Amino acid sequence: MDNLNQDVAEVHWLLDMFQTVDVGLVVLTVDYKIQVWNGFMENHSGLTPRQVRDRHLFDLFSEIDEDWLRRKCDPVILLKNRAFTIWEQRPYIFKFRNYRPITGAAEYMYQNSTIFPITNLTGVVTHLCMIIYDVTDVATSRLELESMNGQLKQLSKTDFLTALNNRGTWEEALKQEFKRLRRSGNVGTLLMCDIDHFKRVNDTYGHAAGDAVIQAVAQAVKKNLRETDIAGRYGGEEFAVLLVDTTADQANYFAERLRKTVENLTVEYNQQLLRITVSVGIAEYHSGMLEHRNWIESSDKALYTSKANGRNQVTVAVAE
Ligand code: GH3
Ligand code: MG
Ligand code: MG
Repeated sequence: MDNLNQDVAEVHWLLDMFQTVDVGLVVLTVDYKIQVWNGFMENHSGLTPRQVRDRHLFDLFSEIDEDWLRRKCDPVILLKNRAFTIWEQRPYIFKFRNYRPITGAAEYMYQNSTIFPITNLTGVVTHLCMIIYDVTDVATSRLELESMNGQLKQLSKTDFLTALNNRGTWEEALKQEFKRLRRSGNVGTLLMCDIDHFKRVNDTYGHAAGDAVIQAVAQAVKKNLRETDIAGRYGGEEFAVLLVDTTADQANYFAERLRKTVENLTVEYNQQLLRITVSVGIAEYHSGMLEHRNWIESSDKALYTSKANGRNQVTVAVAE
């Protein structure tokens, strides 16, 4: 092969590689007219090089935030710097559908990109070259991991049987509210609720029936909650509800409603209908309480009074 033929062959190979390489290659003039558009870009956009040539990038791809990309490219043109974009910042530059079967979770192709200057023989930047990397695999596995971590975190906060806050989470929320109340002097009421004669349920129908009853009461608690209330499973068959911005009088309505809901409940277990009641104690926050434990003790004491007075009733704590 003579020298000329050798050169022609090399250019041919280069063009072949340029067409088939698995990244997007785009060359733009400094006023963002598309000059070069490789096979990757054609395959994913559905637009041929002929269709895009000399067209303005921002006219053709309205999804691109023009101000943002210009800000990225200004230093490339003026200072001959390289610029990078990453999917964490913006998921993509070009909105290409994601067709990969493994990463079917993502609707669009996540992209990173590098943008670098192309100069003429006198060193003036005349064009920009943009390389587009498909990072959908990386992005989706990272996002999945994050969402999994979020779910795990959520699981570790909730009680398995009832899906209410577990005791630790609930008590943490109570501590925070207690601190807030001490600063602000607002109102708040704590409610403790315990299933009456629950041992009998376990003893008569078995532990699994007992679990079903606990779940039914937890449902009743949830049903009566407002958005801001924080409920938790405090013990085996004991529930605690923090009623934010609520006086004892107002909490009494909630407590009575809950008590009646449970009283009217029939829990079906193994074709048997179980009926239960709950006793409730409520205590409003007051400034004499020095720590959140005092608040719990106060509502616990009221709960004990409900038990002592015959169960299936609500008692409001009297401030000492
Ligand atoms: P009282 O009206 O005085 O509350 O009577 P009680 O029988 O409910 O008494 P107590 O609160 O002391 O009994 C709680 C029982 O709840 C004891 C325990 O065996 C049972 N228990 C605790 N956790 C669970 C649970 O997760 N599932 C079931 N099935 N039973 C539980
Ligand atoms: Mg009980
Ligand atoms: Mg109990």
